[in-house]
Amino acid sequence: MKLTRRDFIKKSLFLSGSLLLSPISIHAAVKKEIEWIPAYEKLEMEGKLAQRVKQAYAMFENCQLCPRRCGVNRQKGEKGFCQAPLKPVIFSHHPHFGEEMSLVGGKGSGTIFFSNCNLRCIFCQNWPISHEGRGKEIQEEDLADMMLKLQSMGCHNINLVTPTHVMPNILNATRIALKKGLHLPLVYNTSGYERLEIVKLLDGIVDIYLPDLKYMDVEKAAKYSAGASDYPEVTKKAIIEMNRQVGVLRLDKQGIAIRGVMIRHLVMPNRVAGTEKFVKWVAETLPKNTYVNIMAQYRVEYKAYDYPEIARGITTQEFLEAMEWAEKYGLTNLDPQSVAVRNFYHHRR
Ligand code: SF4
Repeated sequence: MKLTRRDFIKKSLFLSGSLLLSPISIHAAVKKEIEWIPAYEKLEMEGKLAQRVKQAYAMFENCQLCPRRCGVNRQKGEKGFCQAPLKPVIFSHHPHFGEEMSLVGGKGSGTIFFSNCNLRCIFCQNWPISHEGRGKEIQEEDLADMMLKLQSMGCHNINLVTPTHVMPNILNATRIALKKGLHLPLVYNTSGYERLEIVKLLDGIVDIYLPDLKYMDVEKAAKYSAGASDYPEVTKKAIIEMNRQVGVLRLDKQGIAIRGVMIRHLVMPNRVAGTEKFVKWVAETLPKNTYVNIMAQYRVEYKAYDYPEIARGITTQEFLEAMEWAEKYGLTNLDPQSVAVRNFYHHRR
């Protein structure tokens, strides 16, 4: 009977048993059959994933998981700026059809919304989840089961929304799920407010990075994201590292994203987001065909009503100038939906 790659890995993992199981050895004949496998699966085969989980988990003792660097001991129940406990709090998990087309495909992006947030923007659209921490605390085994459920529903990836403060939990859950047959790319769907050292720890685990780059100006970042004046600097460094790891976005034959960086940038009223600087930075720093989604869907949410500069939606002109800048600086891989919106506005003129 022919042994498929998936059968082989599944059997190897089941035999291994414990969380700190020994590396999986792959027979050369089986290796030949491998077309695409998730990054974390390769790392497990190399015997390195368990160590990464340990390394990440140790950070809970003196939490420096994000640039806030609170230093609290989350193992002992202390809470830092993000207010996250030791175990992950989940608001929901389901196939999501509102993400970029290459993530959604025909069956949806397998999205898991984590509660709490390390950035906490005053215009957050998910504020009950991110600011108020609404959701249910679960164990990592449950998180692994959620991943597997999304996979069984046909989702094309595991889309981890706001993962930064729960990264160690995610790594552990991923390894547990891998033992039970998880075979989807992880999408690290982050605000971008990431420490370089932490992104380095994710090297060889994450296949798709989906960071925001929200602002280019320190004062705007501090004003609208809870004092995070270092946001532009640290996020740019993080994105450069993400690009080093996974490179330009790659799609499979069906047009589904399998690996790479996808950058999101939300156009804000009154040029608050610094869009021209943003596209110039991408064009000068990363490959010109870096996938960039210039988003038009800013809306006034949460406390944004208290800040006149951002207390309105964007105008057609503000979106069009953003797209024109992207083209002027030579970006060649803009999100197709953004391009369609631009074409629609042009058509209406
Ligand atoms: S993850 Fe939370 S507790 Fe840890 S450094 Fe960041 S904000 Fe502080």
